[in-house]
Amino acid sequence: MKVLIIGANGQVGKHLVEKIQKTDSIQAKAMIRKTEQAAFFEDLGAETVLVDLEGEIEEIEAAIKDVDAVVFTAGSGPHTGPDKTMLIDLDAAVKSIEASKNAGVERYIMVSSFDTTREEIQNAITDAPSFAPYVVAKHYADDWLRKTDLKHTIIHPGLLTNDQATGKVEAAETVGRNEIPREDVAEVILACLENDATINKEFQVVSGEQPVKQAIESL
Ligand code: NAP
Repeated sequence: MKVLIIGANGQVGKHLVEKIQKTDSIQAKAMIRKTEQAAFFEDLGAETVLVDLEGEIEEIEAAIKDVDAVVFTAGSGPHTGPDKTMLIDLDAAVKSIEASKNAGVERYIMVSSFDTTREEIQNAITDAPSFAPYVVAKHYADDWLRKTDLKHTIIHPGLLTNDQATGKVEAAETVGRNEIPREDVAEVILACLENDATINKEFQVVSGEQPVKQAIESL
């Protein structure tokens, strides 16, 4: 199985490509936006494709054509304004979903944020207004995906850290708010790619006591 990682040069994305390249059955195709980012992935034996997510949907579609699954783990990040939040976390996510449909690629895994409910939008408007556009973007991107026929999985990780992976998580429809190392999120994504029982499911995930594979199997 070949998997396109959208946001491969990101912190979760790099862990994910490393993990995928260590498997026998999955190959990563890393979507990046700068040529100088390619060496990291070429050293891992992964294919790369150059696409700026602010570009035309057809460019994303061309990158998706020869893969079996898509993982969206791109994001505008905390250092840009609401303009980039709309362009990447919402519009690029939706473009990649539509491009997957157009290319006939059915499997799609979305790295969402912890809580993307309408209630969370209202909470953000009251308690942390600058965070609200991000929650709005993630809310509507998730909703767009749910309304498609794609075999989707929506992962809602807690606060991401760069702590060392523990390989142990708590995953369920709802869990208590907590942190999770980015490397463990990458392991969760890989476990979803390897387990078709996660199709059409969504779950929150934070650090916990269950080995990742077991936690994903028990969803
Ligand atoms: P990250 O390190 O910021 O990586 C984001 C990636 O998106 C980067 O590789 C970046 O490319 C890419 N990107 C941004 N704009 C692009 C564009 N126009 N064209 C192509 N690529 C573009 O993110 P992360 O920490 O790995 O997080 C992964 C996901 O988890 C994100 O979707 C984030 O929203 C979500 N999340 C975050 C938290 C949290 O606590 N921070 C919690 C839950 C979920 P460059 O490398 O070229 O900049």
